[in-house]
Amino acid sequence: MKTVVRTDERILSSDIFDRDSRVKRPDHGQWAEPGKDIPIYHRCGVLVVGGGPSGTAAAAAAARAGANVALLERYNHLGGLSTGGLVIWIDRMTDWEGKLVIRGFAEELFDRLPADAIAGPSPDDWGSQDTGKAAHWSQRTAAYHGIVTWSPTVDPERLKLLSQEIVLERRVKLIYHSWAAIPIVQDGAVKGVVFESKEGRMAIMADVVVDATGDGDLFARAGADYVNDIEEADVHHCMNTSWLFGGVDMNRWIEFKAGQPERFTAFMAQGRAQLGLFERPFVSWRNEIALFMGPRQSGYSPLDVDDLTAVEVRSHRAMAAHLDYYRAHAPGFEQAFMMLSAPQIGVRHARRLSGVGSVLRSQWPDGVALADEVGVTPAVSPKFPNISIPYGALVPQKLDGLLACGRHISCDRNSHGFMREIPQCWITGQAAGVAAALASQQRIAPRAVDVDALQTALLEQGVFLRPRARGPAHSQPAAEATANA
Ligand SMILES: Cc1cc2nc3c(=O)[nH]c(=O)nc-3n(C[C@H](O)[C@H](O)[C@H](O)COP(=O)(O)OP(=O)(O)OC[C@H]3O[C@@H](n4cnc5c(N)ncnc54)[C@H](O)[C@@H]3O)c2cc1C
Repeated sequence: MKTVVRTDERILSSDIFDRDSRVKRPDHGQWAEPGKDIPIYHRCGVLVVGGGPSGTAAAAAAARAGANVALLERYNHLGGLSTGGLVIWIDRMTDWEGKLVIRGFAEELFDRLPADAIAGPSPDDWGSQDTGKAAHWSQRTAAYHGIVTWSPTVDPERLKLLSQEIVLERRVKLIYHSWAAIPIVQDGAVKGVVFESKEGRMAIMADVVVDATGDGDLFARAGADYVNDIEEADVHHCMNTSWLFGGVDMNRWIEFKAGQPERFTAFMAQGRAQLGLFERPFVSWRNEIALFMGPRQSGYSPLDVDDLTAVEVRSHRAMAAHLDYYRAHAPGFEQAFMMLSAPQIGVRHARRLSGVGSVLRSQWPDGVALADEVGVTPAVSPKFPNISIPYGALVPQKLDGLLACGRHISCDRNSHGFMREIPQCWITGQAAGVAAALASQQRIAPRAVDVDALQTALLEQGVFLRPRARGPAHSQPAAEATANA
């Protein structure tokens, strides 16, 4: 086990646990799969594959921009890890001054979620450095570095339902229970996908495919370049299945954790010694429900079915062991019960696209608004200004007919620490959706989309962008925009 400490470079302090030993898979030989003709199930302008935060935002935004859109998802709900993965703590959407910079689709969601489905500070307190408020919210996912931030927890069922209703209102063709198997590529451009369902194998043809699978399944299989290097000293590469305990009293737990630091330290030390894999809870949207987004496990591949299985097995066992330990030793957990383990395994990182542009660590200090800015992300700490997200980070270097969004966009491993977070996935999803709609309507490749027109359409959809930067190429810094930012 190693402990990651929150710094100016890292969002979270957390323990990381190494993998169990690996058993080599035996070689059972080959089976030659025969080719065959398959039915075309649907034709559309924009096909979004993956209904996580980024895919939902992409489909909703593309439809709002007037495209004929289909959204394909392997499970029975939308929201991806933010719902089915029980990642119900939505990270910071305000910058360190309290200004809301994650807007557009994100704002629409929070405007429409029922009030009792959200727990977080009121807008009046965003950016507050009041010691009492910061101390209160630091125990409840919404204050870091002594500053109150908009980073609430939400009810996953409400988020699933709202996400679904938004895309249906916009006449998106929603297809659940379907696994995109392979991209259809002709002359260097993606033209659709072949998917598997209970009906067997069928195809969907599209002008533009948005890869929102989180793992880059489609761009990788279509032959686009990608990277998968990791930052060992961060949690961004760890996997685990999250879970919820019901029947708890989180206010009592917080009183213990914050009010008796020595006893809390002893509790954690004993837990690590007794259980091996050990994790502390986070608050949820309700006092009686505790959220566990660990123990974070390192050294497993989300692209290896044996590793995925191993992480599930370890996480389910950890859940049961935690229940016993917390019931016996944790104030507020005496009546706890196993409410739900996440239906979707928690994968933070698999592949990252090699894009025309990128979000880079070298960019953090300068605060420059890039010429092709399609969104703005708060920085990891108050030490850095807001960071520009370029359109080029969604566009493959060579492959046409496809855009990427979400946790597999083009960025370096340090920037992945925050570009993978849910708010940033909503931002890149919305940008990919609008760009795909423009490309489809104008019958052009996504890389040829006019950045001016894209930024205008994003502003119309309520996305926060800095004063307009104009430059000839993707991801070129626009100095004059910074002066106005
Ligand atoms: C344990 C854990 C804790 C985290 N903590 C936080 C946090 O506190 N705050 C925060 O903001 N973020 C957090 N994150 C990060 C965040 O949850 C994810 O990075 C984010 O949800 C990624 O969104 P996405 O749309 O890119 O992908 P995903 O949420 O992974 O969604 C991808 C969707 O695509 C579908 N899909 C994949 N492949 C296919 C296919 N071939 N065919 C059809 N459908 C497919 C999946 O079923 C899924 O629904 C955490 C992540 C994990 C794992």
